[in-house]
Amino acid sequence: MRYPKLRELKEAVISLFSPAYTTRFPVEQHIPFVNFRGKPVVDDANCVGCETCANVCPSHAITFRDDAVKQIRIIERNYGACIFCGQCAEHCITKKGVKLSDRIFDLATFDRSTLVESQVKELLICKNCDAVVTTKQHFEYIHNKLGPMAYASILNLNMLNERLKLEDPGAAAVEVLDSLKRKDMFNVLCPDCLRKVLLKSL
Ligand code: SF4
Ligand code: SF4
Repeated sequence: MRYPKLRELKEAVISLFSPAYTTRFPVEQHIPFVNFRGKPVVDDANCVGCETCANVCPSHAITFRDDAVKQIRIIERNYGACIFCGQCAEHCITKKGVKLSDRIFDLATFDRSTLVESQVKELLICKNCDAVVTTKQHFEYIHNKLGPMAYASILNLNMLNERLKLEDPGAAAVEVLDSLKRKDMFNVLCPDCLRKVLLKSL
C-alpha cells in the first residue's frame, strides 16, 4: 500500500504522547501489583523438608539430597531456574513453609550461584536397614497433626519415647540387628522393616 493506514498513524500519535507502559526499573522502583508472583521465600521453621514442593515444581528448581552418613537432607532451591508459578506454595503441606513474595526485578545477578539457597534437615533413619524414613521435623509435623490417633503407630510411640527422654541418650547405640525379632518393633524402623517384624510375629 502506498499510504500508511490511518489506524496505524493514530496509534503512533497516541503512543508518542502517552506515558511508557513498561516499568522503568532500575531508574524507578518497581511497584508490584496485587497478587504479583515473585521470588518464593522459605520459612525454615515451618518447612519440614517433606519433598512435596520438589515433586510439583515444573522447572525442577527444587532438589533434595539425602546424606545417610551424616543423617541430613539437603534442600536446594535454584531461583535462576524458578518460573514463579507458585506451585510450591500452593502444595506446601504446612501452608507456611514457602510463600511467594513480590520481589523479582532485584534478583538480577552476574553470578548464578548466588541464586541458589539451601536448607538442612535432620533425617529419621531406620535402625535396622539404614533406610531414610523422612526428616524428623516432617515426622513430628505428622505426629502433631494426628493428635492422639498418632499413638496407633508404633513409630510415633518410639518418637515420643525419644522426646520424653525415656531412652538414655548416653546408652550404647542400638545393636545392629541381624534378624528382626518381635522386640525390634520398639526400635525406629522404616515401614518395610516394621512390616517384616509384624508379619513374623503373627
Ligand atoms: S512442601 Fe512445604 S514443608 Fe514440604 S519441603 Fe516444601 S516448603 Fe518445606
Ligand atoms: S515458584 Fe514454581 S518454579 Fe519456582 S520453585 Fe516454586 S514450584 Fe518451582
